[in-house]
Amino acid sequence: MALSNRITCLFLLAVLVPPSSTLQSAEHNKYVLAIGIDGLRTDALDAAKTPNIDALKANGSFSNACKILGPRYQKNDTISGPGWTSYLTGVWADKHGVHDNKFGGRKISRYPHFFNLVKQQFPDYRTASFVDWYPIDKYVVTKADVRVGYEAHGSDGYTVFDQHIADRAVKVLAEQDVRASMVYFGATDENGHRFGFHPSVPQYMRSIEKVDQHVGRLIEAIKSRPNYAREDWLILISSDHGGEGKGHGSGHQVPNIHNIYLIVSGASAAKGEFQQQVYLVDLVATALKHLDVPFQPQWQLDGKPVGLVPRQQ
Ligand SMILES: [Zn+2]
Repeated sequence: MALSNRITCLFLLAVLVPPSSTLQSAEHNKYVLAIGIDGLRTDALDAAKTPNIDALKANGSFSNACKILGPRYQKNDTISGPGWTSYLTGVWADKHGVHDNKFGGRKISRYPHFFNLVKQQFPDYRTASFVDWYPIDKYVVTKADVRVGYEAHGSDGYTVFDQHIADRAVKVLAEQDVRASMVYFGATDENGHRFGFHPSVPQYMRSIEKVDQHVGRLIEAIKSRPNYAREDWLILISSDHGGEGKGHGSGHQVPNIHNIYLIVSGASAAKGEFQQQVYLVDLVATALKHLDVPFQPQWQLDGKPVGLVPRQQ
């Protein structure tokens, strides 16, 4: 082979075969959508007609015994404030400091929303938050490029505002390049408090089925993206607590309250039921891992990545 031909061949090879890491990121950009369903009791989700969430379960890892309290620390109440703060920061309440719904003692600047951790590594990654339980938006959400924070009000307030949340999120997910998103739905908790957290309660079950329809629209929006075939979306679903009767406070010894679902779904997710104990704080670690965000020791994350297929680097 003449030298010039060899050089041409090497040049072509370099163009056609980029390094594997480049190939991976170029062909499969990573995205995370975390969905939060407030007060979702596990046996009620099992009994409800939820084809969209069922499909996500079938395409991923799941547990109906994910713990909202850690082995190390359990002194916070089993209510929304500490639950959502653990969900969004990846640390337990002794670190983030939220023990109740007043959010006093919060240390969110020290243990921030996981969007901050994403942006420390990838400042250009866009993020989006959609919540209608206003304290989350007020006290926990930061570094959201798209930020929708409603304060649900009125009877059936969350049913109404969850619809707005879904509408706004669908548009952003379909049209914008947002690498990390969090979408919160509150009507399940509202109906549990009014009518009872139980599979035999029609209003509670209808609220779960309505949320499933919202989830279906979010997934459709993602699939409608022009570059969807070259994107690797990880969908995470979890809750902040279950319920018993018409409440969920002081549920440390009540499995229907302190056990919740964790679903890790997508092409990069392992398939089948988790064989190990998983925790609410694992959600953030899993999201960061999927986005290739290197963990920094000073973050002191309590969770670990779960339900992901190991990738070749
Ligand atoms: Zn709650």
